[in-house]
Amino acid sequence: MSTFTVINPATATAVKDVALADLATADATIAKANKAFETWRLVNPGDRAKLLRNFARVVDEHLEELAQLEVLNSGHTIGNARWEAGNVRDCLNYYSAAPERLFGRQIPVPNGIDITFKEPLGVIGIIVPWNFPMPIAGWGFAPALAAGNTVVLKPAELTPLTAIRLGELALVAGIPEGVFNVIPGKGSIVGERFVTNPIVRKIVFTGSTTVGKGIMRGCADQVKRLTLELGGKSANVIFADADIEKAAAGAPGSVFDNAGQDCCARSRILVQRSVLDSFMEKFEVAVKKFRVESPELETAEMGPLISAGQLDRVREYVPAGTEIAFTGSAPTGPGYWMAPTVLLAKSTSDRAYREEIFGPVVSVIAFEDEADAIRLANDSEYGLSGSIWTRDLAKGVRVSRGIEAGNLSVNSNSSVRYWTPFGGYKQSGLGRELGPDALDAFTETKNVFFDTTN
Ligand code: NAD
Repeated sequence: MSTFTVINPATATAVKDVALADLATADATIAKANKAFETWRLVNPGDRAKLLRNFARVVDEHLEELAQLEVLNSGHTIGNARWEAGNVRDCLNYYSAAPERLFGRQIPVPNGIDITFKEPLGVIGIIVPWNFPMPIAGWGFAPALAAGNTVVLKPAELTPLTAIRLGELALVAGIPEGVFNVIPGKGSIVGERFVTNPIVRKIVFTGSTTVGKGIMRGCADQVKRLTLELGGKSANVIFADADIEKAAAGAPGSVFDNAGQDCCARSRILVQRSVLDSFMEKFEVAVKKFRVESPELETAEMGPLISAGQLDRVREYVPAGTEIAFTGSAPTGPGYWMAPTVLLAKSTSDRAYREEIFGPVVSVIAFEDEADAIRLANDSEYGLSGSIWTRDLAKGVRVSRGIEAGNLSVNSNSSVRYWTPFGGYKQSGLGRELGPDALDAFTETKNVFFDTTN
């Protein structure tokens, strides 16, 4: 069995060696999950709900430990990491209400009774990226387990530690052996096996658009169910009538949070031309104040990038000689640090303006009017998230209806709430996670007709 050395990205030092599963281990674990499905699906709804609430309680009891582990493994700021562990707890609590409310329908038909059932699918394969290891895992496993499925989960090679710990905590909480399985391994081995092994009935994939397309092709072979959460290049649209002070103060967090390694990062800022100068002035003050420092510090607003490779990829978007509007600051010395960087896009074909960078680089561009703002916002292969800043409520409604993206906020940069659906338009994804309808993605609707004529 091979191993992977987990590195602390803030210091570039080794943390721990993690064993990577091979194909045989992946298959054995999938078989174990399939066996566990036979009994998990039959656990009565009230008991399944209690077990999920127990799991939430145990996560809460270990919240600080999980958060510290994420700081060490992923370089997330301690504030973010606490939120992330709390989000897993909240998702478990939210979906713990589902087993007892997984209603079918009774549909009026002639000559009998017709009932629909929401049946679990079986073994669900969840493939997680490195940028938000805990929440993205939880968005998959909490509703999957609630609906009566069992789970095999593959964390990203770079960030397996919190997922491994969550797997242990599930057992502490009384979730039966085999129901929730964490398998650290390579995407090309374990991840691909989830796709090719017919026992796995559905894939929940979050990651890059390129890998997601390959998984979609692979799933076609078995008509395997699939949810995709992919890349983004979201727009932060600031109208002249907005509270410019507030929009500028919030803009650094909306793109540089998690060092820009966020699928919802508002990495294109669209500003109405008449307020461009005033916005840029205020934005510069906010970026220079944005605290990029050791993620263990309570004051940290941004930590390092995840790896040396990611730092190199991001730096390629700002080659020597690039005209930079301004930058923030970052620590020097060991670790994968980069200062927040602001570019003024010369044209919409600039590479940095078009492509998902997944690092602390943002491009600003001016627009003329409402129609121009919508056109620019939609001029992207992606459609995940975005913000609209205006004091005109009607305009806020019109523009949010006009932008092709799954998650928008008006006068706010918040993207994720576990109560509401999350997912992308266009090449940002397929299907929705979270919110009241997530259970539909983890069940089949079965229709049964009972003849009452004899
Ligand atoms: P990635 O696609 O390289 O890897 C994601 C996961 O897929 C990892 O666990 C990896 O091991 C696995 N994988 C790689 N090759 C595979 C294969 N051939 N078969 C099966 N699994 C495979 O992505 P990443 O670099 O870890 O994450 C960054 C990307 O994720 C960004 O594009 C970002 O926008 C996206 N993302 C999207 C969302 C969303 O909700 N839309 C959320 C977070 C991240």
